[in-house]
Amino acid sequence: MTNLTGIQIFKYLPGAKKTENANCKKCGCPTCMAFALKLAQKKVEIEACPFAPQELIDIFSEYSKIQQNTVIYGKNVQIGGETVMLRHERTFINKTSFVIKLLSNDKEFDKKLEKISSWQLERVTEIFKIDGIYLEDNGGDIDKCVEKIAQKGLGLIINTTNYKDEYDKFNPIVENSLSKNANNIVTASNVEEFDEKVSNILKQNKKLVLNLDIENKSTKELIEELTKMRRLAIINRDENFAHPFMVKLFNCKNSFEAAAKGAFLICRYASLIVFDELNEALISTLATLRQGIYTDPQKPLQVEAKVYEICEPNENAFVVLTTNFALTYFAVANELESLSIPMYLIIAPADGMSVLTAWSADKFNVDIAVKAIKNANLADKVKHKQIIIPGLLADMKDELQEAIDDWEIVVGTKDVVDMQDFIKELEVSRK
Ligand code: SF4
Repeated sequence: MTNLTGIQIFKYLPGAKKTENANCKKCGCPTCMAFALKLAQKKVEIEACPFAPQELIDIFSEYSKIQQNTVIYGKNVQIGGETVMLRHERTFINKTSFVIKLLSNDKEFDKKLEKISSWQLERVTEIFKIDGIYLEDNGGDIDKCVEKIAQKGLGLIINTTNYKDEYDKFNPIVENSLSKNANNIVTASNVEEFDEKVSNILKQNKKLVLNLDIENKSTKELIEELTKMRRLAIINRDENFAHPFMVKLFNCKNSFEAAAKGAFLICRYASLIVFDELNEALISTLATLRQGIYTDPQKPLQVEAKVYEICEPNENAFVVLTTNFALTYFAVANELESLSIPMYLIIAPADGMSVLTAWSADKFNVDIAVKAIKNANLADKVKHKQIIIPGLLADMKDELQEAIDDWEIVVGTKDVVDMQDFIKELEVSRK
């Protein structure tokens, strides 16, 4: 679908040109303008108007081309499928896939594979993992390596000149051989080279991944080339570039260079990065950045709205109320845990927004707070009927107090780091 507005579409229609079929209603809309507006909102198809000019039909057919194919490898690792240049235009779809290289004749193959497959890290509701292995065939028992990788549930990217059709069942990405059924890698060092190579190979296989050769390229050149490729895919809808992009991040001088290049690649526009080893600090850092970039800006990370028990709360436990924005939850919960003081943490639903944003957007108000407090059912569980609300919502206190007369509303701190002193003072006042 195009990015044309209703007015821009209208200019092509008989209604704007005041020709004989203007506002004929054959499309089911009362006027050409109404049709144009619906078409812009994707509520009708261009074919519904028998009088749409060829020029407009061509624009729509051009825009119906897929911008970037989604490639699935391994069990279900999805890469590509992007539709915008910049994240804030809509969202990025499939996060950059992280893959580690292993050699088929590596004496420590099993040990390294075990370490890679078992590595994971949880951050703000997402579990970071390695998606696959880039298996380089340089001798040894390649069949066994392929089996072992599949058994670990990892995706396979295989670089071999002896590809066997039986590997197809693992849904791999293949380099240096051409597989009819699997995804194939096309390697080039610039846009012009890709254009030529992909034109030829597309006739044989449409499931491609474009591997940008970064050898002898500065970070600037690397990003410029990837940006050109992305533009050709997204803006120009050039089918030679409508594929996910991959980069092998090998032979960096040190972790700093790898981190800098990796960060650029996640932002601009690698669908898959192959690392030459499992450097946990590097991968954790880059996965954290990736989480930020690939979180839908319209859907903030959120946690379940419910009561969380911190440090085995008893009848003297404190009760804290806040919203279900994931970062707010983790900041508050971690701080409260570090105090080793038993607490009940009531997380109220607020569309995953932070406290002030939710309050301003009316996603968190007195009614929602009252409901969350009542649903928490804590009245019989704690002796001191005090509820600590965020310091940023001090203005809410009086209204909330009126609505909840069996609890004392206490305004907490604005910053979570000040909670320790605040709780200590509250503890003293209770005695
Ligand atoms: Fe206008 Fe075409 Fe609809 Fe007729 S069918 S009202 S010309 S948009």
